[in-house]
Amino acid sequence: MNEQTLSMRLERVAAHVPAGARLADIGSDHGYLPVALMRRGLITTAVAGEVALTPFHAAERTVRENDLEQRITVRLANGLMAIEPEDGITAISLCGMGGETIRDILDSGKARLSGQERLILQPNGGEQPLRQWLMENGYRILCEEVLHENRFDYEIIVAERAGPVTYSAEELYFGPLLMQARSPAFLGKWQRALRRKQKTLIHFTRAQQPVPEEKVQDLARQTRWITELLA
Ligand code: SAM
Repeated sequence: MNEQTLSMRLERVAAHVPAGARLADIGSDHGYLPVALMRRGLITTAVAGEVALTPFHAAERTVRENDLEQRITVRLANGLMAIEPEDGITAISLCGMGGETIRDILDSGKARLSGQERLILQPNGGEQPLRQWLMENGYRILCEEVLHENRFDYEIIVAERAGPVTYSAEELYFGPLLMQARSPAFLGKWQRALRRKQKTLIHFTRAQQPVPEEKVQDLARQTRWITELLA
């Protein structure tokens, strides 16, 4: 992967960035996403935020090598602290991190959100707590995708602030739109997850040390939900 050839995962993220956006890519690593979008003329300006020094330097290098210093600002900052009001950001991407990490970045950076930005989120696990945060903060899920690449299942969640919204416990777990669409990638993800969870349940029952009842019940509930979904 590089700034010309994105992974399928980042290609799908890129497809949800509105044309002409002023993008903040938080946790940008090499900066491939904003640089690829800028090279294709699809965004107006971008901020690439990084909390760690090595990826920050990598992003600076990618931007420099593509002569994009005038259009893409690379900032060493924690989460949404990379965004300044004068950036006029209209879209924020947070990709390749755990859902809980993305949620924590959004929550601790709330003051930096104008409420007008489109959020394009690609969590690696932890989708349920991330959707819970979106619901509690008045974000409606506009689009969701599942894709399978390099043996991993990835979800992409696109949301915008739109006032109060309510999702059921199952919708928060599976994704309200994914549940309706039931794409082959979505069903494949949950078939694999069900096999893993059923195996874990068997290990729990055979474990030398008793597993806390609450943990067993939670896993049993998840396997029940998935079984019902796939029925
Ligand atoms: N977004 C890229 C992608 O999807 O391919 C890179 C994903 S990489 C696995 C996660 C990046 O997020 C790392 O470079 C890490 O330093 C950065 N990161 C983690 N927590 C962060 C935070 N609080 N603020 C900014 N960057 C963060």
